[in-house]
Amino acid sequence: MIRFENVTKRYRGTSKPALSGVDFEVQRGEFVFLVGASGSGKSSCLRLILREDVPTSGRVAVLGRDLRSLANRKVPYFRRHIGSVFQDFRLLPSKTVYQNVAFTLQVTGSSRGFIQQAVPEALALVGLDGKQKRMPHELSGGEQQRVAIARALVNRPQVLLADEPTGNLDPATSVDIMQLLARINAGGTTVLMATHEAGFVDQMQRRVIELNDGEMVRDEVHGGYGDTSNIPRLVPAEVRGAAAVAALTAVQEVQRQTADLSMVRAALAEELSEQRKAAAAAPAHEPASASAPVAESTPADTVVPLEPVVAPDPAPVDPPVAVGPRTHPIVLPQVDVAELGVADRLGLSDGDDEEVGPTS
Ligand code: ADP
Ligand code: MG
Repeated sequence: MIRFENVTKRYRGTSKPALSGVDFEVQRGEFVFLVGASGSGKSSCLRLILREDVPTSGRVAVLGRDLRSLANRKVPYFRRHIGSVFQDFRLLPSKTVYQNVAFTLQVTGSSRGFIQQAVPEALALVGLDGKQKRMPHELSGGEQQRVAIARALVNRPQVLLADEPTGNLDPATSVDIMQLLARINAGGTTVLMATHEAGFVDQMQRRVIELNDGEMVRDEVHGGYGDTSNIPRLVPAEVRGAAAVAALTAVQEVQRQTADLSMVRAALAEELSEQRKAAAAAPAHEPASASAPVAESTPADTVVPLEPVVAPDPAPVDPPVAVGPRTHPIVLPQVDVAELGVADRLGLSDGDDEEVGPTS
């Protein structure tokens, strides 16, 4: 899905390469943390994936395209498949929440009907329906990042790139955003996140790629953050500790829901197998679809449910009032993804996999 082959990136006027001989491959559905000190090359990697920049040597392939040979005029189409969010949100300050999410769709020529359906769905998915008419400055930092995530998701991207998405948020809000990203990944979207948040990385136990001075020094399937001595400590250790505990609870909740889905699937498989036995015993025809859903082309070590993760109750969407990191409750965005009809937006449908430009 994303492949770096011996990628070196040298910026003009610099002596040391920002990236040097970087090699990795990310599979569909993975959640990957990109870690490393400031200046180690994380953002450079993400910019290459977005084709905002090209490598000095080596090859970057995304969604089956060699980005070197992707014509400039096709780049906007290509980028529709990749959502991106950043530390500084990058919202348009004079546009409403709705307009911010609708904007790229309008620019890229989506139909009015599609926009009117897709924008509210994306906002509901991130727990922001009811705030469509707000201006960015009327929102909290966490809410602004949710708008940015809604904007990133509205185009049904298969990949979500997040460059230090919690970097400007307090620990409790960061947990919410982290949980939202985990949920988006659980819905099938590949997520690549550059971060300094050692607590999240340690708790999530997902794949970790570590860069050091532009070189890849680690690629671990279930990794932790590693050496944290270089991370600037902006908040007291006890608050970070509370955030880490909250993050664990959040992640466990997502894992629990994923496990619930697996159990449902196992029960379904058993039921189908019973049916098949019964059908075999009877001389009649075999049912055509007598097989349990099986994940396609996903690595064995990632848990990728085919169905969207569904929150237990369709309830409040307004975020809770944060009293402080210690008492901040973990509240899932109460959004039934299936009900909203956004399964395909989350990359659950395989239909447009290869479509990058109108003529390709
Ligand atoms: P990170 O995101 O891990 O902090 P970056 O990818 O932003 O790292 O930067 C990697 C290295 O490349 C740094 O030394 C940085 O100064 C340099 N760099 C990044 N962007 C540019 C640029 N546009 N021009 C020159 N040097 C750059
Ligand atoms: Mg960076």
